[in-house]
Amino acid sequence: MIEWLIIGGGIHGTYLANLLAHLPGGGHDQVRILDPHETLLSVWQRNTANCGMAFLRSPATHNIDRPILSLYRFAKTRQGRPHAAFIPPYNRPSRELFQRHAQHVIAVNRLDRLHVRARAQSIRREGRILIVETSGPTLRARRVLLALGMGEQPCWPSWAHRLKRRGARIGHIFDPGFERRDWRHAERTVVLGGGITAVQTAMKLSAESAGHVHLLARHALRESQFDFNPCWIGPKCLRPFYRTRYDQRRTTIDQARIPGSLPIEVLQEWRQVSQGSRLQFTEAECRGAVAADGGLRLDTSNGPIEADQVILATGFHNRRPGGAFIDRLIQEFALRCNPCGYPIVDTDLRWAEDIYATGPLAELQLGPCARNIVGARNAGRHLLHGLGFDRLAHAGQ
Ligand SMILES: Cc1cc2nc3c(=O)[nH]c(=O)nc-3n(C[C@H](O)[C@H](O)[C@H](O)COP(=O)(O)OP(=O)(O)OC[C@H]3O[C@@H](n4cnc5c(N)ncnc54)[C@H](O)[C@@H]3O)c2cc1C
Repeated sequence: MIEWLIIGGGIHGTYLANLLAHLPGGGHDQVRILDPHETLLSVWQRNTANCGMAFLRSPATHNIDRPILSLYRFAKTRQGRPHAAFIPPYNRPSRELFQRHAQHVIAVNRLDRLHVRARAQSIRREGRILIVETSGPTLRARRVLLALGMGEQPCWPSWAHRLKRRGARIGHIFDPGFERRDWRHAERTVVLGGGITAVQTAMKLSAESAGHVHLLARHALRESQFDFNPCWIGPKCLRPFYRTRYDQRRTTIDQARIPGSLPIEVLQEWRQVSQGSRLQFTEAECRGAVAADGGLRLDTSNGPIEADQVILATGFHNRRPGGAFIDRLIQEFALRCNPCGYPIVDTDLRWAEDIYATGPLAELQLGPCARNIVGARNAGRHLLHGLGFDRLAHAGQ
């Protein structure tokens, strides 16, 4: 039996595994990370590579090591120096540097040895032990931390789903099997979405292919450095948030998020490269599409648009992540949920005795930054506080 089983090996699961493996009295061999992918951080790596992200939106202090300045230090080492690249404002690291640093943290802390490659299917309690049935071995742990993320639920409009089932060439940039290189050969591509992922994907595809790329968004391209106001990272916004009831927190979170926006450097790049004739922007609502002339005809509020293929960059579905696994867990342990379906976890991120959550599953406690890298760091502080390691929680870990 182990002390901690972390379900999900993304940014949240990997960071928190490292934190828990370093607790006084704990130990590396007391932690496991359950994730079906070949390596940790697979979903992050795939999604950020597919959309051609060059720089992170968040600052270098938002990284997956315990010391907050670790990424800066890494950038000065022999390993990091060749990839050291930051852009203003807030010293945001290149994706390459972030990635290399993350791999370095995993290697130095031997986190890959904690990885059990399987999917959690159900949890039940036997006395003080939680038994986790997976697609692989059955695991026994004292405590479980749910770190599932949104990564497995790309948002598909229903018309796109219907057409896809009939064989149309439509894919979502966040689909597990999506590879951008497979989408370079069409003459006419529509990229649907108006946020950073859509714009970067359209620019990248246009640079890599000879065809015409049409970006279709229901709003004008708009600038915002972050996808939420940074005051949500600290007490300035969070303190009043904690005083509100859970049902009000959902509204607050939804209002605080700024979806479909672009940092200034991406907007500037778009303005430059979209001067050419192979990259076009239309502001319109896409209401549906039909198969036509070997391709697709999109029905938009600005008239029809013809395409050979459509790439959806429409983000993630907002429903509670975890599907049937979390549904079963809620039943088995009679877990509390808000009317929006999301867990009601306490200030220690505990959903039930010995069952904890982070990321979107804990957003009614972590607030609007829950889904981001800094949300994992904040989750670490909540967890340490609950486990009685306050000193570590306030020491920047
Ligand atoms: C393109 C892109 C760019 C982003 N850029 C930034 C940025 O610059 N800064 C920032 O702060 N945030 C950014 N984000 C947001 C956020 O940091 C990432 O989405 C991040 O990957 C979230 O990590 P996570 O661990 O919550 O989830 P995920 O990366 O989705 O990882 C969760 C893991 O859990 C696994 N899992 C799910 N169900 C089970 C199960 N039943 N059993 C076992 N494993 C399971 C999944 O397979 C997955 O591997 C970005 C997001 C995207 C998509």
